Amino acid sequence: MNVDSTTLEQQINHLASQCVRCGLCLTVCPTYQINRVEAESPRGRIQLLAAVAKSELSVDVSLKQHITQCLSCRQCETVCPTNVPYEQLLIHGRTLLQQKNSKKAHLPFIMTIMTAHAYWRRWLFGAYRACSKLGLLTLSHRLGLLRLFKLKRLLRYLPRNIAPTFINAAPYYAQAKRGSVLLLTGCSSAVLEPHTLRDAVRLLTAWGYDVIIPKEQGCCGALHAHAGFNAKAQALAAKNTALFQAQPQKLNAIIQVTTGCASTWQTYTHLPAPIVDIQQFLLDQWPSDLALKSLTLSVAVHSPCSQRNGMGSGTLSMTLLSKIPQIHLIGFGDTTCCGAAGDYFLKQPQLSDQLGQQTINTIAAATITEVVSANIGCRLQLAKQWADQGIDTLHFCHPISLLARAV
Ligand code: SF4
Ligand code: SF4
Repeated sequence: MNVDSTTLEQQINHLASQCVRCGLCLTVCPTYQINRVEAESPRGRIQLLAAVAKSELSVDVSLKQHITQCLSCRQCETVCPTNVPYEQLLIHGRTLLQQKNSKKAHLPFIMTIMTAHAYWRRWLFGAYRACSKLGLLTLSHRLGLLRLFKLKRLLRYLPRNIAPTFINAAPYYAQAKRGSVLLLTGCSSAVLEPHTLRDAVRLLTAWGYDVIIPKEQGCCGALHAHAGFNAKAQALAAKNTALFQAQPQKLNAIIQVTTGCASTWQTYTHLPAPIVDIQQFLLDQWPSDLALKSLTLSVAVHSPCSQRNGMGSGTLSMTLLSKIPQIHLIGFGDTTCCGAAGDYFLKQPQLSDQLGQQTINTIAAATITEVVSANIGCRLQLAKQWADQGIDTLHFCHPISLLARAV
């Protein structure tokens, strides 16, 4: 996220010069595989951004579309022989396009609220629950209001029953204390899945760690950075860093439960403790005397791009859940993106749906009862894609929620 605006063009040219144009990345890029156009490939996008940085190309609608249609999945980075830091290049490139573009892009309205202060998220989902209970959503749908306010697609992603309570910011204490951790609640998880956060607290305290949840923690800035709003992303990073540094407790780790935010948290500097994914933390700190209950379940384990390519630990959920006796695990989604990709599912509905359907087609729903994914965006996307196929009997959760059932 550290972009010096005075040298943005130079930074893009420097990063782009590392590409030797071998084309290996074309074989794994989801958008190239669908569109079969060079400009929809990593190599093509790198050349486009380099040309803009050298002022050889102006920013037009078609160029913007090719750059916007990138999922930021980083699949290309996994095969690149010269290790082009594609994500970094993309973030710089989108920032440059924002600077050069007279018509400024913006986050979808709903994402602006979601990533704003927690108060607005709570207000929004309080209103959503009330409208849902009073039947106003159905009425709005009939009157065409959802289409008018571009909410129709979003509502198909939201869980039918959103719990009326949020996780309390109060500290949670372990009985036999080994240390303290700070828990990142995430913008979406905080309002859509407080039960996942409660499972996180339950496991972390059972593992011997006090859990601190700073009430004022904000969005990590991932959506802003990936959309080219780097100044906003940096402001969010500065605010969170100052807040975490002010915590009086000595922290062993800062725990994230949403892998989609991982690569952005990793760019933070001067944090008082390392950012650690909760699955990794639970594995690393596994209590020697812990005996898990058996779960005779058949579970499809999704591997989010953010975990696979961003954190470099695609098998983490599998490793964690394989500790549960009698559980049957089937891996899927480990070669491509499911199409959720931050706010991509709202901005690029057709590509998003196509990728989502491709992902769920790789496993047979008849053989499973549960689907787990460590990224909330992927969970919502997979649930929506299965519902579109008429399969709404599956249960979707974070891998730690399954583990919490066995503890
Ligand atoms: S694999 Fe790497 S070096 Fe080869 S074309 Fe793609 S980005 Fe360039
Ligand atoms: S990040 Fe994903 S969609 Fe974008 S160029 Fe790389 S492989 Fe293609």
